[in-house]
Amino acid sequence: MKPEAVIIGAGFGSLSCAVTLAAKGWKVTVLERQPRPGGKLQRITQQGYTFDRGPSTITMPHVFRSLYELAGETMEDYVQLYELEPRTRNVFADGTVVDFSKNAGFMQEQIAAYSPADAARYPEFMSEAAALYRLSEQQFLGRLLLSWKDKLSPALMRGLVRVRPFLSLHSLLGRYFSHPHTLAMLGRYATYVGSSPFQSPAIFAMLAHLRARKGSMEFTAERISWWRGWFPWLRSWAFRW
Ligand SMILES: Cc1cc2nc3c(=O)[nH]c(=O)nc-3n(C[C@H](O)[C@H](O)[C@H](O)COP(=O)(O)OP(=O)(O)OC[C@H]3O[C@@H](n4cnc5c(N)ncnc54)[C@H](O)[C@@H]3O)c2cc1C
Repeated sequence: MKPEAVIIGAGFGSLSCAVTLAAKGWKVTVLERQPRPGGKLQRITQQGYTFDRGPSTITMPHVFRSLYELAGETMEDYVQLYELEPRTRNVFADGTVVDFSKNAGFMQEQIAAYSPADAARYPEFMSEAAALYRLSEQQFLGRLLLSWKDKLSPALMRGLVRVRPFLSLHSLLGRYFSHPHTLAMLGRYATYVGSSPFQSPAIFAMLAHLRARKGSMEFTAERISWWRGWFPWLRSWAFRW
């Protein structure tokens, strides 16, 4: 008999879980209290205007691609992503504009226009951001840490110490930069999860690496096609709301 799972919620997280389990042969039931799947990924149309409510930028496209592959599908058959360059535009009250770019030299040039000292330290900061990402990839992302043996493994303990668990993102940035623009611009990564750079851990700096190096992909105009892309598979399994 097939193992069975009931998943509560039909956001990205739970739909990914449903796809993974179903691809591994589980019988999956997804329960959603909203009239439509997608969770935060929704589009509202009111008085002729259309608003996207949720995610627009995919910082780890390879994770989505591997999920499609796990289900024996090709992501591009369902959804097209395109690279954003520059990634985002930061506009400050004094008129300074910094376009986030994967081009480190261009980043340094823009930062140097208001703070040569911060610009000089940007490459060193990006190296630390890359190291934090590599550490997370090895030790935390994609690992469940269910058993005590996993939780207490020496490699994990070493990793925990190296991610600077007692340092906030703001304090880490303060070791490299001093200009308020740079601190605000890079501290914003904490807001990705609705947090503050003063409260979130230093490991959030890895997002600077992810956004610059790993790619920053934008949805195609018809963003909602993401969940339409999931739909054909999910409908073939027990799926109700
Ligand atoms: C404005 C905004 C912008 C964002 N931009 C980005 C971005 O650019 N890139 C990015 O990667 N992330 C972004 N995020 C974060 C991203 O939206 C979330 O990380 C992701 O959508 C969360 O997916 P989830 O499946 O964990 O939860 P959700 O999408 O919140 O889904 C949870 C689902 O569970 C359902 N549910 C909850 N309780 C029950 C229950 N008891 N019974 C039945 N159903 C239940 C809810 O109705 C909902 O549909 C953004 C978030 C917001 C708010």
